[in-house]
Amino acid sequence: MAKKKSLKGLGARYGIKIRKQYTKVHLTLKEKRICPECGSKQFTRDAVGIWSCKKCNFKIAGTAYDIKL
Ligand SMILES: [Zn+2]
Repeated sequence: MAKKKSLKGLGARYGIKIRKQYTKVHLTLKEKRICPECGSKQFTRDAVGIWSCKKCNFKIAGTAYDIKL
């Protein structure tokens, strides 16, 4: 009985953690970014690890879900 309970608890915690990470990643991806070159807000992720500005074509390497400046 006790074993079943603890297993259930772990499963729930694991699920919440994954869901929280997923939400965080999505919010980071959708976040509006400002181009460090021209200041335009059309700075988005081009591909995994590559971020580019749609206005001036400035490209920067970052992480998969965020930019590192
Ligand atoms: Zn730009």
